[in-house]
Amino acid sequence: MTTADLIVIGAGPGGYDVAAARARAGERVILIDYAFPGGTCLNRGCIPTKCLAASSEAAIQARNAAALGVSVGEVMIDYTAVVHRMESVVEGLRDGVRALIAPCTFVYGQARILPDGTVGVGDQVFTAPKVLIATGSAPAALNIPGADLTINSDGVLQLEELPRSMAIIGAGVIGMEFASIMNGFGVEVTVIEYLKEVLPPFDKEISKRLRTMLTRRGVKFVLDAAVTAVTADNEGVRTVSYDGKKGPETLQADTVVMAVGRRPVVPEGLAEAGIETDRRGYIVTDARMRTTRPGFYAVGDCNGRLQLAHAATAQARVALGEDVNLDAIPAAVFTCPEAAMVGLTTEQAQAQGVNFRTAKALYSANGKAQASGQADGLVKVLYAPDTRRLLGCHIVGAHASDLIAEAALAVSLGLSLDALTTITVHSHPSLSELIASFR
Ligand code: NAD
Repeated sequence: MTTADLIVIGAGPGGYDVAAARARAGERVILIDYAFPGGTCLNRGCIPTKCLAASSEAAIQARNAAALGVSVGEVMIDYTAVVHRMESVVEGLRDGVRALIAPCTFVYGQARILPDGTVGVGDQVFTAPKVLIATGSAPAALNIPGADLTINSDGVLQLEELPRSMAIIGAGVIGMEFASIMNGFGVEVTVIEYLKEVLPPFDKEISKRLRTMLTRRGVKFVLDAAVTAVTADNEGVRTVSYDGKKGPETLQADTVVMAVGRRPVVPEGLAEAGIETDRRGYIVTDARMRTTRPGFYAVGDCNGRLQLAHAATAQARVALGEDVNLDAIPAAVFTCPEAAMVGLTTEQAQAQGVNFRTAKALYSANGKAQASGQADGLVKVLYAPDTRRLLGCHIVGAHASDLIAEAALAVSLGLSLDALTTITVHSHPSLSELIASFR
């Protein structure tokens, strides 16, 4: 049996960051994973999709370059080169993670929790006063006939060539990102969504505006429709059947992507060790990420709180005793243009009976947005009528994922819209002026 100060199971953003920090601080840290360090985020999620998004956006900008007086001729996609670039960016960042976790003892293998609270990997056994479970999630699939004829987000990232057409089941974050990316590459994209609007967790006005922008670029949306089956003909063309507003309908596509959410991945042996999971399989935790067994913590996708890489990292720091505010975590979707949010949406504020007002700033009124040909976008804020305290900020438009950081700080500190313009000054011309335009 090997004794350490901390055992971390899962080397994704929920695991590797705190493991490395603790090891650098002199603790004996055992970090366990059966795959490349970096987790879903680096290997099959955030980073590779952002590489594809960047290539796709370059194609979109090249097509629009004539509007800025630049002629580039016909835009061609060399998808092999796109994929090579994605792989080399991921490989480079893997080197970075490997260097970061070098002070940890990395154990390659599948960890299981043993009933006595030790951790087994093969025939090795480890023990520590603190065990952090950060085992993540995996794509979920609808239980429908022909589900095996679809690919999930992992499959999209493994495509070696672009299909002519793609149907995407689910207009959540993954569905919308791939819809935007593939449309930029010239793929005919149709998104089929069960709900009446895309991007369920976002403010409806932002979701609708993003959908309208992507529709103008040629993405087709079928809303309020439940996919019931997928079939394939002899040439491999898929037919997607769905119950839509007008009853049963079908559409055809070369590739069908299932993007209907993710399910938890957890180590074996939880129940026997007294670590409870909920009915969906997520590990039950309290506000400090403690599980039902003392000394065991669960962070990130596997606890079902918020499936975002940066939330996992922040939760891990809380689990290890740091004071990190988890109440104002921003979220972003890397479509073109991006959308981002922090704090309350209009729908949440209404449901919670919160007294609020809204204000909006249009990208079209911002000098930098106009100058750079990115004038289609919107910043919407929710604020308290009496104190003008910022309650929520919602952005659709260029660089939304970067702009949201300042709003997140303001929501976290309980700042008013006025404080955003008095405690600092924003450079001109810049998109950051949008956040400071609510005087
Ligand atoms: P999601 O839960 O965000 O969206 C799934 C969508 O599928 C929902 O809109 C749902 O209504 C729809 N759906 C379910 N059943 C359906 C059916 N039968 N027919 C049609 N539509 C159906 O899930 P996701 O997009 O797969 O993403 C998974 C998780 O990964 C999310 O929690 C997300 O936050 C996270 N993620 C985040 C980022 C980011 O931060 N940029 C990127 C990728 C993934």
